Amino acid sequence: MQIYGCKKCRLWQGTKHAVPGEGPLNAKVMFVGQNPGADENEVGRPFIGRAGKFLSKTLAENGIKREDIFITNIVKHVSPKNRKPFDDEVKACLPYLITQIKTIKPEIIVLLGASAKETPRIEGIEYIQVIHPSAAMRFTKMGERFRQQIAELAKRIQQN
Ligand code: SF4
Repeated sequence: MQIYGCKKCRLWQGTKHAVPGEGPLNAKVMFVGQNPGADENEVGRPFIGRAGKFLSKTLAENGIKREDIFITNIVKHVSPKNRKPFDDEVKACLPYLITQIKTIKPEIIVLLGASAKETPRIEGIEYIQVIHPSAAMRFTKMGERFRQQIAELAKRIQQN
């Protein structure tokens, strides 16, 4: 995949692994975060750190198997000190996400946190915004709301 050798923006510099995303190519649900973090950079897999484990646990509690969803980020390399990706970095990387969306054709895209807002909107796909799991695991009220949001998502998936 082109992402592994990509140097279209500065973010690849100093990284160990690109993190393209993972999950079945026929997934009905896609999750999109902002960028990979330090844990993800170590192994090249998305959402495997504390926030990712919290997300997987909450999904499982609601009967959603993580292995059934495709999970990725807007940019595919970790950013220095986990800073927000710059606009030009997002712009450079978005074609990969657009290709992933068009290939997978999910029915639902779940945006993880407000920072995933740059995810392109494609007609016919339902977009659902949830609290980012890293905030949900740190703040009680956000955690409660996040659990509700994932429970609502689980119901929505069952309706499809
Ligand atoms: S963040 Fe995206 S555009 Fe930038 S180097 Fe990595 S894969 Fe390429």
